[in-house]
Amino acid sequence: MAEHNKSRALYDRAVKLMAGGVNSPVRAFKAVGGTPIYIDRGEGAFLYDVDGNKYLDFCCSWGPLILGHSHPDVISAINKTAARGTSFGTVHENEVLLAEKIIALCPHIERIRFVSSGTEAVMSAVRLARGFTGRDKIVKFSGCYHGHSDYLLASAGSGLATFGIPSSAGVPEDFTKHTLVAPLDDTEAVQNLFDQYGADIAAVVIEPVPANNGLLLQSREYLSFLREITNSNGSLLIFDEVISGFRVAPGGAVEHYGITPDMCTYGKVVGGGLPVGAFGASEEIMSRLAPDGPVYQAGTLSGNPLALACGLATLDYLQKTDGWAGLESHTKAFVQQFRERTSGLPVNVATIGSIFWISLQKEPPSRAEDIDAGGAQKYAGIFGRALQAGIYLAPSAYEVGFVSTAHEEQDLTRAAETLAQILG
Ligand code: PMP
Repeated sequence: MAEHNKSRALYDRAVKLMAGGVNSPVRAFKAVGGTPIYIDRGEGAFLYDVDGNKYLDFCCSWGPLILGHSHPDVISAINKTAARGTSFGTVHENEVLLAEKIIALCPHIERIRFVSSGTEAVMSAVRLARGFTGRDKIVKFSGCYHGHSDYLLASAGSGLATFGIPSSAGVPEDFTKHTLVAPLDDTEAVQNLFDQYGADIAAVVIEPVPANNGLLLQSREYLSFLREITNSNGSLLIFDEVISGFRVAPGGAVEHYGITPDMCTYGKVVGGGLPVGAFGASEEIMSRLAPDGPVYQAGTLSGNPLALACGLATLDYLQKTDGWAGLESHTKAFVQQFRERTSGLPVNVATIGSIFWISLQKEPPSRAEDIDAGGAQKYAGIFGRALQAGIYLAPSAYEVGFVSTAHEEQDLTRAAETLAQILG
């Protein structure tokens, strides 16, 4: 049995110092029981905790670490940048380099702005959509998470779904009254919203790869329907690519599905493990943003040089090694092995690119409403046994797994065997 004494001692101190002992709720292990493990260091595909235990990491910092931990190119880029200063509060070259890179990978983006988190990216994109269209309402989907800004905490997923609460305390009803919520994969519900409110809808915002409430893959036809209905009503379509951006393809879900939204938001991989978010659109839309236009948006540490160097090194490495192809084939093989070993069991694994989600039901759901809550309850035991076997899954049934370029074939084969045994 792996010991976690040092972790437990740190957690005992932490709960007396920080709310819930953590700085983001799911880290507290409330959904899986036990106390969180404190990480000492990460190397490649592995995490090492303060008690000396080693884990194959499928959480990858919730997605950003597409090259795994402490990748030499990333560390060297950070060190080189840090030697010249950590923040200037001015313009600098890394902004230009990363913006050029993103626009080359995502030709649908003509102008970009960097922020420091995914929450900020989506919040700013929605403000810009409202400013651009002169309309107030937005449509979002139950089971999609877009960060924790007030009006997007309506039937959101992620930590909220984990705790089984529909929304957050502290959000006045007035703040969410312009947020219309529809189930995913439901054309009729969206059609009804447009029939009723079409002229007031500024934007439809969706995770094109919904990955915060399990992995609720949508059909190309459904995304295409959203493209058409927004176009015909003068509303904008926003793809929240905080998870899928630079992950499911170089150009994210836009490239994968071949559907072009009006705006995109990014986070996670675009910062390679340091805090970066971004949102982008056509020159016409982005020209409404301050200082060119009337929509205000700003940030003390926005476009931080260290963070952008980290993102740039990550995207450079993926591009020069065709990392996306390798990631996809490794993940496919892992998923295939897992499926073969669990065939006949009430288990399935949904996957796209280097993202996977194991759920304890026969068919993969495409709507939050179709997730079997009983399966989620069983997850705690599975998480605990995987941890004991040296595999770090996300500490919630509703969170997806990520594969990095540092996950080697033999690590993945062993993990598929171990996880199948645990589930068998
Ligand atoms: N949008 C999506 C799709 C996300 O997955 C997340 C984070 N899980 C966010 C927005 C918010 O990003 P952050 O946690 O960086 O604020």
